[in-house]
Amino acid sequence: MPNDSDPLADLDLDARQRPLAPGLYLVATPIGNLEDITLRALRVLKSVDRIACEDTRQTQKLLNYYGIATPTVSLHEHNEAGRTSELIADLLGGGRIAVVSDAGTPGISDPGMFLTRAAIKAEIPVCPVPGANAALSALIASGLETERFLFFGFLPPKTSARRSDLEKVKAGLNQPTTLIFYEAPHRILEALADVERVWGASCRVVVARELTKLHEEFLRGDIRQVREQLEGRERVRGEIVLLIDAQPATENAGTVVSVQQRINELKTDGLDEMDALKRIARERAISKSEVYRELQREKSRKPGR
Ligand code: SAM
Repeated sequence: MPNDSDPLADLDLDARQRPLAPGLYLVATPIGNLEDITLRALRVLKSVDRIACEDTRQTQKLLNYYGIATPTVSLHEHNEAGRTSELIADLLGGGRIAVVSDAGTPGISDPGMFLTRAAIKAEIPVCPVPGANAALSALIASGLETERFLFFGFLPPKTSARRSDLEKVKAGLNQPTTLIFYEAPHRILEALADVERVWGASCRVVVARELTKLHEEFLRGDIRQVREQLEGRERVRGEIVLLIDAQPATENAGTVVSVQQRINELKTDGLDEMDALKRIARERAISKSEVYRELQREKSRKPGR
């Protein structure tokens, strides 16, 4: 019987004494610091029959470091579909297979989901072996709200698609939420410019760079401050998680920001009235003429008119 009152009561302390059960093991590996791997992950990687790796050369470095001689096989976005049937056949025959990505948790902006779904469909046990993950590592040290957050993986590389995605996200929020994105270093300034267009220059952001590595860095502040710091650099390097202290399009106990107020904000950001109306229409998922009608209604409600 599970013991709800004592979190230590149901620990499987004898797991190390038993042979590893057949099944698919999704094993998290370090995102920089090689020590960020669990004892269980090392035991599983040693005990499985094969390790399916995003890049076998990358994983081999980790296996060499820990003296693990388990055979590897590649499993990446270009061969996941084909490789899956071969691995499922192994698993159905009682095999034990681990999946790892180059860094962090497999399946999170990395290969793994396709094989996991196939294993579930074939009624093969699927076991998570948790560990490092860039998004959660960045979140817990960001200083931003950790109770309520949304993870989106990578933003689209093109500005128009990126901006439209950010606007849709904002329109869908109904309370302050921390948003987490993965971003490439050569696109971080463009991405921050788009975040500023959608949430305004005073929106708080955190750029978490090179987590757990030698040059780990957190840039915290409003968008203008963080942009200025990065713009002052010859080149932005390293791996980045971008976090946004995102406020919904509504403010203060559900009061909707008036159309006029939002137009004023957007004008401060450099948009003219027509573009501001278009933007608000997109943010609120209504037509431009509906935004215009709401603006007229607001004007007619003003005292003295
Ligand atoms: N599966 C991984 C995980 O669990 O975090 C993420 C893989 S995704 C392909 C790689 C992206 O994660 C990088 O481009 C970067 O945005 C983020 N990332 C990975 N390692 C990082 C690190 N050490 N510091 C900051 N961001 C990192």
